[in-house]
Amino acid sequence: MGLSRVRCAAGVGCLLAAVSGGAARAQRLPGGVTPEHYALTITPDLVSARFEGVERIDVTLEKPASEITLNAAEIEFESAKAVVGDSRPEVVEATVTLDEAQEQATLHFAKQLSAGPVALEIAYGGILNDKLRGFYLSKTKLRNYGVTQFESTDARRAFPSFDEPALKATFDVSLVIDAGDSAISNMPMVRDTPGPEPGKHTVAFATTPKMSTYLVAWLVGDFQCSQGKSEGIPVRVCATPDKVGLTRFALEAAKWDLHYYDEYFGIKYPLKKLDLIAIPDFEAGAMENFGCITFRETELLVDAKDGTLGARKEVATSVAHEMAHQWFGDLVTPEWWDNLWLNEGFATWMETKAAAKWKPKWAFEQDAASDRSNILDEDAARVTRPIFERAETPAEINELFDDIAYGKAGAVITMVEHWLGEETFRKGVQAYLSAHLYGNATAEDFWNAQTKTSGLAVDAVMRSFVEQPGVPELRFGERQGSEIAVSQRRFTDGTASAHHAAVTDAEHASGNGSELWTIPACIKGGGCELVGPETAKISAQTSAPFFFANADDKGYYRTVYAKGEYAAIVTNAETGLSATERIGLLGDRWALMRAGEGTVGEFLDLALALKADPEPAVTESVLGRIESIGTRIASDDDRVRLDAMVRREFGPVYAAMGGPRRHESEDHSERREALFEALGEAHDPQVVAEAQRLTEQLFAAQKTADPNIMDAAVALAAAKGDAAMYDRLLTVVRVTKDPDFREAALRALTWFEAPELVNRTLEFAVSDEVRSQNTWLLIAWMLERRETQEQAWKFVREHWDEIERKATTSSGAHIVEATGSFCSVEKRDEVASFFAAHKVESAERTLAKTLEQIGECAQLRSVQEPALREWLAAHDPK
Ligand SMILES: [Zn+2]
Repeated sequence: MGLSRVRCAAGVGCLLAAVSGGAARAQRLPGGVTPEHYALTITPDLVSARFEGVERIDVTLEKPASEITLNAAEIEFESAKAVVGDSRPEVVEATVTLDEAQEQATLHFAKQLSAGPVALEIAYGGILNDKLRGFYLSKTKLRNYGVTQFESTDARRAFPSFDEPALKATFDVSLVIDAGDSAISNMPMVRDTPGPEPGKHTVAFATTPKMSTYLVAWLVGDFQCSQGKSEGIPVRVCATPDKVGLTRFALEAAKWDLHYYDEYFGIKYPLKKLDLIAIPDFEAGAMENFGCITFRETELLVDAKDGTLGARKEVATSVAHEMAHQWFGDLVTPEWWDNLWLNEGFATWMETKAAAKWKPKWAFEQDAASDRSNILDEDAARVTRPIFERAETPAEINELFDDIAYGKAGAVITMVEHWLGEETFRKGVQAYLSAHLYGNATAEDFWNAQTKTSGLAVDAVMRSFVEQPGVPELRFGERQGSEIAVSQRRFTDGTASAHHAAVTDAEHASGNGSELWTIPACIKGGGCELVGPETAKISAQTSAPFFFANADDKGYYRTVYAKGEYAAIVTNAETGLSATERIGLLGDRWALMRAGEGTVGEFLDLALALKADPEPAVTESVLGRIESIGTRIASDDDRVRLDAMVRREFGPVYAAMGGPRRHESEDHSERREALFEALGEAHDPQVVAEAQRLTEQLFAAQKTADPNIMDAAVALAAAKGDAAMYDRLLTVVRVTKDPDFREAALRALTWFEAPELVNRTLEFAVSDEVRSQNTWLLIAWMLERRETQEQAWKFVREHWDEIERKATTSSGAHIVEATGSFCSVEKRDEVASFFAAHKVESAERTLAKTLEQIGECAQLRSVQEPALREWLAAHDPK
């Protein structure tokens, strides 16, 4: 799956993290029954929001049984029976009992069934829900669609099933739908016949290969597609008819990725077709259903020519991520959900690799370095979780889809590949996949394959990163000859005393701080060496004029250098370090400040040394953290001075870039956007005026010279906007067909600052006009902005029932997480008591983590606020 993202400032913990979970009830099926094949005929009624199902499951009984338990949720059984024997089949009727809490149904047979093959025949009914899971309803102004989302445990809402990833089977899907409607499923259509009733037709799809239930999908309604071919496989990108014009870019990406993955994995794409479909209502970012990948519209649809670079990059990585899963996840699947991090970490690593090979000029590696820096910050909290975490219930499984499973696991895989080398790592991936085709595997299988093909201790490295929580710190001494002293420990935010105050609930802290890792440390201009728990020295040999212990910034650790070594790095930063290394250097300096080693002033000195950096991601990294200083550390007075500093230092850098030119490089334009936004937020009068002018142009439906700057322009104009502008922007939200621009306009609605307009957006967020997938997004954005967070928080508390009415599986957790932008002990207590009284499903760890984050911020502010004041005074030109 792809997560839906809340864009947020660097350094502010962005997504979920976790602590060890509470008591779990085992909720697995009893076993002894192996499903082989499902034949499903589903008849949806898109108007009454119900469906009927007829299902035959061929199973093998290990031993004689008089009852069989499978998964079912919100299903009404009409009849159930077993059919035994081929030549003269015997029918054995069953009664059904339901266990709602366990999401299971047990078929009790009139007589005992003997061991061996049995066919279960079940007729049932279900609802097309509005919770964006199972078989659910998605709506446009013109019509209703029936679509599916089964990961993790919601196939059971569409058909009674053995709904566990290791219980792979083959599937025949048939859909009985209205005469004018069309359908898409995992496999190509093989039959389309009128009936069984007048006004209906029955669409049958080819039998799937062996696959897990959570990867089955079907969609009913009216989708239109653009189509192409890659490696002989027909590829389509589909959307509702009004948006088919926005499918070309994703089609090009998908065609390229299919070719690339065929070669990379050394295994041909295993199905006869591939569809990628944008769905108007969709909870996650995207979902890798085998051969039938589904997306949130913003993750798949973009104007190939006029879309912003950010939007095109998002589509490129999203498509690459889900297509990597077709092999790594779909063809070979984790045994159980506790290994889903391997799936998601791998796809997160691979999305950057594939996208960067497709569009080498788009600097995806730098974006990945920024993401890595953010997850390192998040994982430096004491309340974090190890990558490997037990999960049994659906709520626990859902909570595993967090930044640790995606970002951290992806970063660890990035580190291992960098250490082994691309080709060696690829051989390990191929060995792992080809040993488990159409089957299941574990993380141990993966790292054992890598260990075997490389002859290096990949198992020791991965085990230490997967089983222990937190971030390693490598601390280096002065160089002595060709060697350098090194020590390691767990790196955490805050001082020890702050830690005590912040984590009031000791059981929520994970690990005990004495963790030690086996770390492949790669020296710039030198080699890679394993730093284990006992290592005291490594080689310092390097061709670089300084010692830098995280080459290409691919390692998952923080570094601390002796004074002289650090000074040499900073002196050489612009000329001697790559862009990703500069991002890593900034991240390390920022993290040290948060940990109480060094001041905010030292960070700002480094930031200003890199102020004219030519790379957009470095500029974003600098400006994002300065913005964090403004929101997290600065008092109101200091913020005014900090804004003045930004205008003074970065204004000339922006001016030197000049206006948009025809055929300028994309990264040039991306860098201009970052400076434009930061200067606008710092109230630079010229930039604000330019933002207002561009917004007027937009309202007048004129084309702009630089579309990349538009999202920021509209938001900045909104921050100064009045009710009249609000109305015009709301009209744009209502009429625009471009999902990405619509999202940008929605975001701009959250930037108005007048209290009555803030309130309008909050009311709008919970109204029927906003899809439930976006309700939490709007609220989270407003909780994250200092200008609106108080009002948003009040609204959340007063309108919790309305917010819950529009809740989806993970929306509550996202809102909890957004309260992590508060920065005082009083707010922490308010958040704690509110969510103690209003329990949010699948958010236990998120809440613990969020409370720690607020406490840490309060502590950081108290320590660094005087240091900031001092630095600002010293840098005041007066
Ligand atoms: Zn994924």
